[in-house]
Amino acid sequence: MGPGLPRGRGINLGVDIGGTKILAVRAAGREVAHVVNAKTPKGGPAAVAERVGALVDKLDPDRAYESVGVVVPGVVAHGSVLAAPNLAGWSSPVPFGELLAATTGRAVRLGNDVNLATWAEYRLSPKPRVDNVLGVFVGTGVGGGLVLDGQLRKGPNGLAGELGHLTVEPGGAVCSCGGQGHLEAYLGRRCLEQRARDAADEGRSSALTEIAGQKRMTSGIWHAAVEANDPLALELLDDAARYLGQAIAMVRAMVDIDQVVLGGGFGSRLGGSWRSRVAQSVEHHRFGPTPVDIVASSIGDNAAALGAALLASDSL
Ligand SMILES: [Zn+2]
Repeated sequence: MGPGLPRGRGINLGVDIGGTKILAVRAAGREVAHVVNAKTPKGGPAAVAERVGALVDKLDPDRAYESVGVVVPGVVAHGSVLAAPNLAGWSSPVPFGELLAATTGRAVRLGNDVNLATWAEYRLSPKPRVDNVLGVFVGTGVGGGLVLDGQLRKGPNGLAGELGHLTVEPGGAVCSCGGQGHLEAYLGRRCLEQRARDAADEGRSSALTEIAGQKRMTSGIWHAAVEANDPLALELLDDAARYLGQAIAMVRAMVDIDQVVLGGGFGSRLGGSWRSRVAQSVEHHRFGPTPVDIVASSIGDNAAALGAALLASDSL
């Protein structure tokens, strides 16, 4: 059985497949009893399914669990992955639920990573629960999830909550999806780095390019540049906060939410003063009498894996 919690009610297996790493947990609510991880194979869906099968066997060698929840960074509908641009070799729809059922020997429930991270933030919040939540997770890109009236909204095409691809600046910067002026073009780590490098090419030096050189501009580098009051970093992150506030106000006007949970590897590092800047921008665009509460993720890096574990048992 592995260490930690015994088998019992509320304990489940969850797997979070990321672009570089697969994280598998045995967990009860917020409590992780056992965690294993591995690199994400680059060989396409079958190779990833094999690796997931091996990780699940490590977590549950006695086959005590009949089901497992699995989340991917992509569009999921009807047990298939319709698009997953951050996974190498996943260029067309993949019947991934079937592949996983074969490699894990268990019933598989499949979901989108950010949808389930939002669900975990909602279900496992230590604070009094509000029933209408927008989750915004900023990492390489920008993902979103929606809980409406206490239900996770997935949508008929698996697209609900994709606020990274709302147009915030018509005719603006090019997004990683190829669209123009989408929120992700101003906020995801990948697009922010591109903006900083474009500025450097135009002769505008900054701490960002000085520290990063030719290497990837990590969250830590952005953090260091902000700490040093680097004008370009502050300007780009201010633009990002302004556009995110605009997008949140659009979502609110459309579906009405009480709370925004802000997380993700990059989003979590930006801190309280950046969240306040986002809140200011929401206020600027606000329609309706009450402000929106913007809070930091209470779970952190395990949110999607814990959401996957909930997916194994919750009726979603
Ligand atoms: Zn886009």
